[in-house]
Amino acid sequence: MFSIDKFIRPHLLSLKPYSSARDEFEGEASVYLDANENNLGSLAGGVDYNRYPDPYQKAIKEKLSLLKGIRPEQIFIGNGSDEAIDLLVRLVCEPGKDEVILLPPTYGMYEVSANIHHVGIQRVALDERFQPVFEKIAAKQTDRTKILFLCSPNNPTGNLLNPDTVERLIKSFNGLVVVDEAYIDFTEAPSWSTRLFEFPNLVVLQTLSKAWGMAGLRLGMAFASPEIIAYLNKIKPPYNINAVTQELVSAALDKTAQLQDMLQVITTERERVMAAFNQMPLIEKVFPSDANFVLVQVANANDLYAYLLERGVVVRNRSTQPGCANCLRITIGTPAENDHLLGSLKAYSQEKSVA
Ligand SMILES: *Cc1c(COP(=O)(O)O)cnc(C)c1O
Repeated sequence: MFSIDKFIRPHLLSLKPYSSARDEFEGEASVYLDANENNLGSLAGGVDYNRYPDPYQKAIKEKLSLLKGIRPEQIFIGNGSDEAIDLLVRLVCEPGKDEVILLPPTYGMYEVSANIHHVGIQRVALDERFQPVFEKIAAKQTDRTKILFLCSPNNPTGNLLNPDTVERLIKSFNGLVVVDEAYIDFTEAPSWSTRLFEFPNLVVLQTLSKAWGMAGLRLGMAFASPEIIAYLNKIKPPYNINAVTQELVSAALDKTAQLQDMLQVITTERERVMAAFNQMPLIEKVFPSDANFVLVQVANANDLYAYLLERGVVVRNRSTQPGCANCLRITIGTPAENDHLLGSLKAYSQEKSVA
């Protein structure tokens, strides 16, 4: 039976976390002289910006709990999901000794976080359909492997990982399996967070940066067992989510109807843009997408990238990623932006007479 205590770095098991003024006194008082704040007020205006924010973001967790069907004790909130990735590596990986497994091509932060903490990296490439290969991943595991990072839908490829393989990996992996679901709102597939109770070693990441349109506010989530969440809370910076973000996010989480409207526009546009791509001889391959971007393969990605840039359109050149030779990752924009993109691609085809 998996026990998180066996994976926490030993010195963190007994760590005494920082105890903030807001930890030591939680009730209601009329005069707060406990946190060295400026009680005259804030130069930023607003109601309470002179006060430290709630270190555990209780109001947001209550709303997320209802939205996602997950108990508040199973929710960690980070300054972007990037903070959760960083804290997970710090929590279980001993620098210079332990390692993580990544499945390239995938999101770059897993590797950067491991490198920052001097944690080893084992890479097991996704297959030609960008799916994980169970046997190859299992073969890489040693007693030093602490985290397996899975990204579904995967960035930059756009596809969901095969759920049967993901389930086999979670069941067999002796360590944390992190399923990064930054793009889950763009697909019909269920979140792995609905199965947390089955898998004590599972951590699911989501973010408000993509579908919810709040990348600038920096708020990401980790869903896991209450034990794992308690450890993350113990090692996080005390006030990792600022007051403005907490305020704006709390209000935005009520706007679920508008979220659905935006998702409708984006997924409809995705199908329109992909259909147009499929009609263009210039585009040699359009990879399936369950996200708000599409990976395409062309004859000369660098050339097309530079051409689009001249027309004021910036896309992501992923050509140097394994399995992504001559591939561009293109975000689905507004209908007008997508028209601009498609027009530019047609002009390119005519100029190069690819058509
Ligand atoms: C964009 C992205 C994130 C970033 O999340 P933040 O919450 O903005 O830090 C995480 N994972 C993947 C796969 C992403 O593409």
